Amino acid sequence: MHLLVIEDDARLVRLLKRLLSQDRHVVETAMTAEEGLEIATSDLGLDAIVLDVGLPDKSGFEVARALRKKGSQTPILMLTARDSVNDRVAGLDAGADDYLVKPFAYEELLARLRALGRRPPTRKSTSLRAGHIELDESTRRVLVAGKPVDLSQREFSILECLLRRPGQVLSRDQLLDYAWPYGVALTPNTVEAYIHLLREKLGNDAANQVETVRGVGYRLREG
Ligand code: CA
Repeated sequence: MHLLVIEDDARLVRLLKRLLSQDRHVVETAMTAEEGLEIATSDLGLDAIVLDVGLPDKSGFEVARALRKKGSQTPILMLTARDSVNDRVAGLDAGADDYLVKPFAYEELLARLRALGRRPPTRKSTSLRAGHIELDESTRRVLVAGKPVDLSQREFSILECLLRRPGQVLSRDQLLDYAWPYGVALTPNTVEAYIHLLREKLGNDAANQVETVRGVGYRLREG
């Protein structure tokens, strides 16, 4: 899933980002309500938002309300510090879909996110497409201009990560987080090597879609 975590507790943000990335989710993070709103309303196609109630600039309730008012239908999982009926009602009232009381077990968060992801089938197809490239997440097949291409697991994951955010620059670290299990000691050069392999397998036209952004990372061109 493509997730946004809006939470001002830096330690918790780091932890969630690490664990969720390890579970192959693409994770955006914001530490303030304002930053969160900006990311949530940009055209990222988020699958769910994890939203803390207590934020430094605005409450999570206000963020949820603002998002719904703007027409956003992205499922929201609210994080609250207290298990009070008031908070629960306020959260659901503001447009949240579910809530979780801190401290929570990570497995519980995952289960809730999965449930939210299943709710409205925002994206029925499991296939991601950009230009010549088509990737099916359920069958793990990749087609370039309609022809199957055989990719290794890492190459597939890197391509999947890029395809989930077409047009956006992804850093080598973001790709590492996504495509490799946490704790594996790697250097960003490894990503470079895999991008090289990936381009070779994709063939000329599709390879050109994988652009190097000097000093930053990589971006997938949509056409
Ligand atoms: Ca907080």
